[in-house]
Amino acid sequence: MILNPVIESMTESEKESQQSQLLQKLVERAYEKTSFYRKQMQNLDLTPDDIQTIHDISKLPFMNQADLSANFPYGLLTIPVSGIVRLQQTRDASSVIGFTKQDIAYQIEMLCCNLAACQITMSSMIMMDPHTLDTGSMVSLQHAAETLGATVISSSMEDELSTIKTMLDFGVTTIISTPSTLLQLADFLKQKGYSASDLPLMNILCEAHQCSSDIRKALELEFKIPVYTIYGLLEVMNLGIAGECHSQSLLHIHEDHFYAEIIDPATGALLGDFEPGELVLTTLSREAMPLIRYRTGDIALLNHQPCPCGRTSARLQLILPNI
Ligand SMILES: [Zn+2]
Repeated sequence: MILNPVIESMTESEKESQQSQLLQKLVERAYEKTSFYRKQMQNLDLTPDDIQTIHDISKLPFMNQADLSANFPYGLLTIPVSGIVRLQQTRDASSVIGFTKQDIAYQIEMLCCNLAACQITMSSMIMMDPHTLDTGSMVSLQHAAETLGATVISSSMEDELSTIKTMLDFGVTTIISTPSTLLQLADFLKQKGYSASDLPLMNILCEAHQCSSDIRKALELEFKIPVYTIYGLLEVMNLGIAGECHSQSLLHIHEDHFYAEIIDPATGALLGDFEPGELVLTTLSREAMPLIRYRTGDIALLNHQPCPCGRTSARLQLILPNI
């Protein structure tokens, strides 16, 4: 289901116009409010007036994890700390991303679209494994599922038997967990003479980095239901940057909030569709702490061809090592 067709099915010219306006405002604010972005642009003899359309983004420099660490904790904020409602630290605590109420509201909107795209409805009974994601992602994901009217059941998922009992007691239709936990569950059921496909589940959701193509095949083989993934990155937005649709053909990027580029990691040269390289993201709508041309370190490719689902957003294919 397309939750927000006006946004999710924009024409190319509508998208370009919206992204251009958002980028202009973003650069103006970043230049005015942070010495980091101001110095970066001054070094290249640029002012915000040089950024008129989304294509002008190529004039701006890249940034990376080292820039986040160098400006830790508040050097990249464009608002006072009192306006921050959530701080998301990276795993090594070397950098932190701040979010305003509006930033969180946008994340929940994006996650609502992601969940609707993978067939979550108000009839869904969702079980969330608390060990799957960081706390901020779990809170936002639960809020998004409840916003759609789905039922979310909290469960500690401490052992296989209690997990299966909960699934059967409540008719759980969707589980959000790690592939390793789910494959252990399938093994447990086999040992007891059952199959994972005996469960009432209708779909599985995983974080995209955790689900290589081999792992996805193993899950689909055991559970015999669709496996959907949602992409996030702690340094940018922990969950919801992009998500799969029912056609399961790559991850639709929320292009009203993020501008994605693929570059040659060695030279920084921009690559075209279907050319694998490093994913670079710009947070077009971020209020608290915008990131401009952030090098994610993720290897991926982009596809701008129309998707059978009707969404017009660019799609991302993460290239993950198979384990
Ligand atoms: Zn699609």
